[in-house]
Amino acid sequence: MTRTLQDAARDAAGCTRCALSQGRTQVVYGAGNPRAELMFVGEAPGFHEDRQGVPFVGAAGGLLTGLLEGIGLSRDDVYIANVLKCRPPGNRDPQTDEIDACRPWLLEQLDLVAPLLICTLGNFSTRLLLQTQAGISRVRGQRFTYRGRALIPTFHPAAILHGGRSSNQMAQMEDDFRLLPKVLEELRAAAPPDPDAEQLGLF
Ligand code: URA
Repeated sequence: MTRTLQDAARDAAGCTRCALSQGRTQVVYGAGNPRAELMFVGEAPGFHEDRQGVPFVGAAGGLLTGLLEGIGLSRDDVYIANVLKCRPPGNRDPQTDEIDACRPWLLEQLDLVAPLLICTLGNFSTRLLLQTQAGISRVRGQRFTYRGRALIPTFHPAAILHGGRSSNQMAQMEDDFRLLPKVLEELRAAAPPDPDAEQLGLF
């Protein structure tokens, strides 16, 4: 039988591949539309995400939800995941060994959701998927490819919160978000029709 996102989430829930499994309340695998055209990849769960088991439900999540609404989308239209599925203590940065241990979950998740467009939020997801050392300010808002899928990096919402909402970064992030539906439109026009989607009445 074909492996589904639910199968993967169930397996991930018991993950002990790194030490973060010792301190977590639960694994935060991902949330949203399992067949989304647009998938976001953040960094790691924080306090609220660890408690609720859902990515981006704290302050940074509020900002992400608002940015999505600004382009006419809800959280249910997209899929949201993180590089790390477990909360690092004190919300510290992910460590290389943790990213290495968790990477297979994310790569499988990207294959299973199979979005047309990936939007990486911040340095960690961008560097992981693009295999670059370039900083987010240099690559944001540009179109890249990850294993044949379009990828556009933008800032992490938490960076905007720390820098102040009125900062130039917020305007740049809004610009980046406005790009997403435009690129999706282009990709849809170029993609062959999905026979399953037609069956489900999605068109
Ligand atoms: N920051 C992230 O990168 N991911 C979350 O889920 C929450 C905050």
